[in-house]
Amino acid sequence: MAAAQTKPRFAYFEGQIVPFEKATVSVMTHALNYGTAVFGGLRGYWNSEEEQLYLFRPLDHFERFLQSASLLRMTLPHTPETLTEVLRQLIQAEGYQTNCYVRPLAYKSSEMIGVKLHGVDDEITMFSIPFGSYVDDKEDGMHVGFSAWRRVDDNAIPARGKIAGSYVNSALIKSDALLAGYDEALVLTQDGHLSESSAANLFIVRRGQLITPAVNGDVLEGITRRTVIELAREELGLTVVERAIDRTEVYVADEMFMCGTGVQIAAVTQVEHRNVGTGKMGEVTRALSSVFYDVVTGRNPKYRHFLSPVYDKEPAQS
Ligand code: PMP
Repeated sequence: MAAAQTKPRFAYFEGQIVPFEKATVSVMTHALNYGTAVFGGLRGYWNSEEEQLYLFRPLDHFERFLQSASLLRMTLPHTPETLTEVLRQLIQAEGYQTNCYVRPLAYKSSEMIGVKLHGVDDEITMFSIPFGSYVDDKEDGMHVGFSAWRRVDDNAIPARGKIAGSYVNSALIKSDALLAGYDEALVLTQDGHLSESSAANLFIVRRGQLITPAVNGDVLEGITRRTVIELAREELGLTVVERAIDRTEVYVADEMFMCGTGVQIAAVTQVEHRNVGTGKMGEVTRALSSVFYDVVTGRNPKYRHFLSPVYDKEPAQS
């Protein structure tokens, strides 16, 4: 994923949109010491024909964000709708006319020593960076290996929450994969089934069926995953099965891909130096990517309800 690491000009911080430099916290902040924060990650897609920036499924992203927050006993004076409005104002201030990535973060803000969740203050911040246009330069797809780490177990840290501290698990997985020469890793659950990559959901294709680990398989309930399931059924007429996937099923799969806000849809073409299918991006993955891209950029009217426009504009004349 090629992310332009430009700094934002603004941030939403302590209830207002402020210059980015003003959005700072103390070293004693609870979240910094204990990982007691939750976050989200969503994208805005610039549609040049309409000169509009579309946020992709912001209500669903913010719903999961608030659920993650409630897992950490946070009480936040927000709804998915109010957070979407904050985000619109933030991006309007930035004035982006390009794809962008948004990071909402809710954190335990008290300056205190003491590991617990209740009786600690909570805050929300949000910022956005331009992300440039996404170019899939990997027709070859991703080469991955099985991580020696296991995916965080739901009985240790809530796996369906996007909890900052649990991303130590993802960071260990990702660095070890990259340093071993892979692009990413496949991560197994404690009981040895496939869960996710370091930060994306996984699908395999076998005999024309799309198979993905179920939401009770220690996975993050990905918004892209949910979108892919719907598009596969509705637009490609595929059967989608949510069930546990064995390690060796991956070796005999016809296709495999990972999906998430960051990677969007990315083919996995080698696992542990074995080809998946032909070793090239497969037809199902290619078809899904194409449908997905039209949906997120607003070029498929049927799925307009997934998009929220950032800029106030006159309705187009018909
Ligand atoms: N799993 C993990 C661990 C992630 O961090 C992400 C990225 N948010 C995903 C899956 C994909 O989720 P989404 O499609 O909502 O971005």
